[in-house]
Amino acid sequence: AAAARPAMVVILPSPGMGHLIPMIELAKRIVSHQKNLEVTFVIPTEGPPSKAQISVLQALPKAISHMFLPPVSFADLPPHTKIETMISLTVTRSLSSLRHAFRSLSTTHAVTAIVVDLFGTDAFDVAAEFNVPRYIFYPSTAMALSFFLHLPRLDREVHCEYRDLPEPVKIPGCVPLHGRDFLDPVQDRNDEAYKWVLHHAERYREAEGILENSFLELEPGALKELQKEEPGKPPVYPVGPLVNTDGAQTGANGCECLRWLDEQPHGSVLFVSFGSGGTLSSAQIIELALGLEMSEQRFLWVVRSPNDVAANASYFTADTQADPFGFLPKGFVERTKGRGLVVPTWAPQPQVLAHGSTGGFLTHCGWNSILESVVNGVPLVAWPLYAEQRMNAVILTQDIKVALRPNVAENGLVERQEIASVVKGLMEGEEGKKLRYQMKDLKEAAAKTIGENGTSTNRISNLALKWSNNATVTN
Ligand code: UDP
Repeated sequence: AAAARPAMVVILPSPGMGHLIPMIELAKRIVSHQKNLEVTFVIPTEGPPSKAQISVLQALPKAISHMFLPPVSFADLPPHTKIETMISLTVTRSLSSLRHAFRSLSTTHAVTAIVVDLFGTDAFDVAAEFNVPRYIFYPSTAMALSFFLHLPRLDREVHCEYRDLPEPVKIPGCVPLHGRDFLDPVQDRNDEAYKWVLHHAERYREAEGILENSFLELEPGALKELQKEEPGKPPVYPVGPLVNTDGAQTGANGCECLRWLDEQPHGSVLFVSFGSGGTLSSAQIIELALGLEMSEQRFLWVVRSPNDVAANASYFTADTQADPFGFLPKGFVERTKGRGLVVPTWAPQPQVLAHGSTGGFLTHCGWNSILESVVNGVPLVAWPLYAEQRMNAVILTQDIKVALRPNVAENGLVERQEIASVVKGLMEGEEGKKLRYQMKDLKEAAAKTIGENGTSTNRISNLALKWSNNATVTN
C-alpha cells in the first residue's frame, strides 16, 4: 500500500526571510525535476505570518504547499534573549505540532525526506520517529558551514572568548578569520545563543546530507575541503546559487521601484538595502543619507525606522512601521529628488538587482543578497550588521574581491565623507571597475552551474530522484 501514496518532501524553515526564500527556490527546482514529487513547507511561527512571507508563499506552483504551525509563546523569555535562541526555541516549541503534521501528512503521502535549515536540527527527533531521512539546507556561505562543523572542536580546544584569541583562526579551506569577526552568537560563550549554535553544530553529523547554497567558483577553498569524505561528516552538496530569478515576487513597492529604474541611465544606480531584518541607529541613518547626497550618485534606498538598541530589530517583523521618513535629515528627500528614490521597508530586490540601471549594491552582506548580486554581476559596498555578516564581508573584500568596505570611525559610525568616497569609488572609480570585472566572471560561472546540466542543477536533480524513489520503501 505504501507505494500508492505519492512521495513528499517536508521542508521546515526556521524563522527569517533569509531562510525561507532560498528554500523556496530549492523547492521549485525539486518539483520541476520530479513531476511525481510534492513539497510541503511546514512553518514554525511565533506570531502571525508577515506580508513578505505570505506573498512569497502564494506565488508557488501547485506541487508546493505550505502550512503554518500554531504560534509558540515567548512570554517566559528574559529580555535581550538573542535571535538565535528565539529561532531555535521556535522550532523546539513546535515539535508536538510538527508531530501532528507528520501524522496527518503520512495518511496521504509517503514522506521521503525532511530538509531543515541551520537552526532546525531539533526537528530531526520527530523525523526519526517517522523514519524519515534527514537533510540540512545551509543558507549561508560554505565558510560559515565549515565553521559550524569545526565549532565543536574549537569549543573543546579554546578556553577564552574567541575574540580574545591573539591570532586569526584557520577554518579548513578558508581565509584566516579573527575571532571578533566570527558570527554574533559565538561572541559570548556564556550566552544561551552560543549553546544553541553549538548544539546544532553537534547535530549536523546526524544528517544524511547537507545542501550548501554556494558554488565552487565562488568559494573554491571551503567547498573543496567540505566535499572531502570524513568520518562523522555528512556529504556536502553545493547547490547554489539558489536565488529568485523568475521575477515573480514584487510586493508593495514593486512597481514604483522598477518604473523609476526604467527612467535611469544604464548601470547608474546604487541600490541600498540592509536585508529583511537590518536596522541602523538614528545617527547612522543621518550619516548615510548625507553620504549618499554628497556622493552625487543615483540611489534607490530601502529605509526602515531607526533602532538605537539592536541592528536586527526587524528580524521577526519585516513589516512596515508608521512613518518611515520622519527621521531622515531635513530636506533630504527634496534635495535628492530625481536622483534618489527612498522606499519604505521592502523592495523587489531580485528584480532591482537584475535591472540594467542598477550598477552597485550597498548591502548588509546577508548571503542571499550577495548571491542575488553575484547572479546579476553587480559589485558591492559591504556594510555588515549582525549574524554572520562580518564573516561574509571578509570573504567579499579579502577572498573573492567584489566589494569595497567603508571604515568605521572611532565613534562607531560610518561617517558621511567615508560613505561618499566609497560609493563614488564603486560607481565611478577604478576600484569599482575591477570589482565589476570580477563580478562578471562569477556571474558567468553562476549561470553555468545553475543552468541546464550544470553541477548544482544535477545535484538537486539527483536528490529529487532519490527522494521520489524512496516512496516505495519508507514509512
Ligand atoms: N529582500 C527583498 N526586499 C527587501 C529586503 C530583502 O526582496 O526589501 C529579500 C532579498 O532579496 C533576500 C532576502 O530578502 O532574498 C534577504 O536575505 P539575506 O540573506 O540577504 O538577508 P537577511 O534578511 O536574512 O538578513
